[in-house]
Amino acid sequence: MTATDGLPAFGPGRHLLSVQQFDRISLQRLFDMADLVRPIAERRTVCTVLDGAILGSLFFEPSTRTRLSFESAFLRLGGEVTTTTGFTFSSMAKGESIADTSRVVSGYSDVLVVRHPDAGSVAEFAAASVVPVVNAGDGAGEHPSQALLDFYTLESELEARGKPVDGCTIAVVGDLKYGRTVHSLMKLLALAEKVTFKVFSPPSLELSIDVERFVRERGHLIVDCDSVTEALVGADVVYATRVQRERMTEEVLATANVAGNLRDHHHASASTRFADGLIRFVE
Ligand code: ASP
Repeated sequence: MTATDGLPAFGPGRHLLSVQQFDRISLQRLFDMADLVRPIAERRTVCTVLDGAILGSLFFEPSTRTRLSFESAFLRLGGEVTTTTGFTFSSMAKGESIADTSRVVSGYSDVLVVRHPDAGSVAEFAAASVVPVVNAGDGAGEHPSQALLDFYTLESELEARGKPVDGCTIAVVGDLKYGRTVHSLMKLLALAEKVTFKVFSPPSLELSIDVERFVRERGHLIVDCDSVTEALVGADVVYATRVQRERMTEEVLATANVAGNLRDHHHASASTRFADGLIRFVE
């Protein structure tokens, strides 16, 4: 059974590459599971269901929170973790291909979590892996696990205020072009009904036409705003993301236009920097 766009629906033994592998029912099922395991995360109960299992954690791009969140979740459930970070100490620095690395490393693990700077590269890992692969961020592509957590948080916080996600208005501000969490979250929120997205980004960091089309085709409204202030008006939620400097080439950064935009954007980010990929709720 297929969720969308030819990717197999997410389920046991499957790769997690994109939020497009979910529909509303499977999303709810996952959130019910999250509620169930919450006491384990909070150390109110102990569970060793992953006893004997090994997570291969491959992070070829900087990460603190995402990597440690996966690793600690696996350890909390009784599993073991092997990890490699960056290219320098990986065999890729010697020219080994993604397919070779994946094939071999997947033989040492029960599941792989992979972050890589190129969009589509985690899917390449998955294609060669003998175990399930979780996309922990592929360049400017997607970051499905963060979007799942963001949706879960957003829904619980809205519900606590007596509002459903359906019909909500969300201000999405910052680097919408390279911010992969934005791409994943907007696609995931497209599973809800009639969401209004008020978007603001510095020029040249606008939302890609693909994400925009994906969301609009599913009956949601995208309102382009000229400032953060305008985006905040009427918003139930503000989702603010930083400028993803690491995705911009020196050449692009050097152009006066982008440099100016980044400077201007600094003001916008100042109020939202604390959020850096998190969600802030406007009462
Ligand atoms: N942690 C998120 C990511 O890896 C957000 C960010 O880095 O801005 O994309």
